[in-house]
Amino acid sequence: MEKSKLICECCNENEAIGVFSSQCGPISHAYCKDCADAGYEPYGSIVALGLCVEFEDMNEDSQKMILHNLKFYKKTLDEFKEIARVANAEYNIYVES
Ligand SMILES: [Zn+2]
Repeated sequence: MEKSKLICECCNENEAIGVFSSQCGPISHAYCKDCADAGYEPYGSIVALGLCVEFEDMNEDSQKMILHNLKFYKKTLDEFKEIARVANAEYNIYVES
């Protein structure tokens, strides 16, 4: 029986070197060496931060980390803010219904 490989949750390509705590909060992800060394986080975790706090209200370290990751995922800050705006609007409709 072939052993299944743990794939990096950031690039979704390389084999992960392990599961480590995230910079985004109390959660762990599988990272390959390249993504771990570069400080990348899974895109969903980056977006999740944007759901909780407006980008402008985040501390400088979080803003830098998000901008660094958005470059990796080839996303703009405006796209990031729009995803958070739409997701929060959908959530508000859900909780108000
Ligand atoms: Zn990776």
